[in-house]
Amino acid sequence: MRKIDYHMHTHFSADSEASPREHILAAINKGLDEICFTDHKDFHYPYCPFDLDADRYFHELKQLQKEFANQIKIKIGLEMGLDVEFYDEINAFVNAHDYDYVIGSIHVIHQSEFYDPADFFKGKTKEEAHQEFFENTLECVQKFDCFNCLGHLDYICRYGPYVDKQVNHQRYQSIIDDIFQTLIQKGKGIEVNTSGYKDRKTCGFPTFEQVERYYQMGGRIITVGTDSHTSDRVGEHVEDVLKEYQRIGFDDVSTFTKRVRD
Ligand SMILES: [Zn+2]
Ligand SMILES: [Zn+2]
Repeated sequence: MRKIDYHMHTHFSADSEASPREHILAAINKGLDEICFTDHKDFHYPYCPFDLDADRYFHELKQLQKEFANQIKIKIGLEMGLDVEFYDEINAFVNAHDYDYVIGSIHVIHQSEFYDPADFFKGKTKEEAHQEFFENTLECVQKFDCFNCLGHLDYICRYGPYVDKQVNHQRYQSIIDDIFQTLIQKGKGIEVNTSGYKDRKTCGFPTFEQVERYYQMGGRIITVGTDSHTSDRVGEHVEDVLKEYQRIGFDDVSTFTKRVRD
């Protein structure tokens, strides 16, 4: 399997100061075959404007692509916050540039976000919040076509004012299955995001149990990404995840050029 890191942020994202060059050097150092930058764009983000200066982004990354062409494959991607309230704006933004790969992520629902101060959870039990999160994810993957893979499927378990934040997948399995079914029918995939990786069992996002379910339902398009906001995390746990992919039955990870699978 090819060693890739298909989820990385740099100073082009409001929540990172990392330099793209340092990410590239870290990736080469770790022996990765291919990386994809996926800086953030979200249309409604009340506390931190996740804007992306796409012209500057492409200008800088294209130069680095050339400079490192003999050492590593570099793709230019995007982590697009999916939000049905900004359907037209999101499509226009994605289509305005030739991204190689687009992650569709749910960061905000009905103008409330999951990070501190976490408006989204106010007045909700954990079950109500998780139910709404998965239902919204389903609605987004049904409505949007402008992405390649769904980002961090169950990362909601990181947030909320609950003592035990874990997602009880069983409880929402029929919605999660509908999400997988929709992705498979549309020729889209999922990622495993290693920012939640602790060990094989608790690995997020999602868990390998869910990855296995996705595979059994016919899903074959899969990527792995670290969600690195600093260069020291580039490539972290990628090999652990690839081992699990192999065990589950995947032949290889997917890579993309201009939003088409290579
Ligand atoms: Zn994200
Ligand atoms: Zn991210």
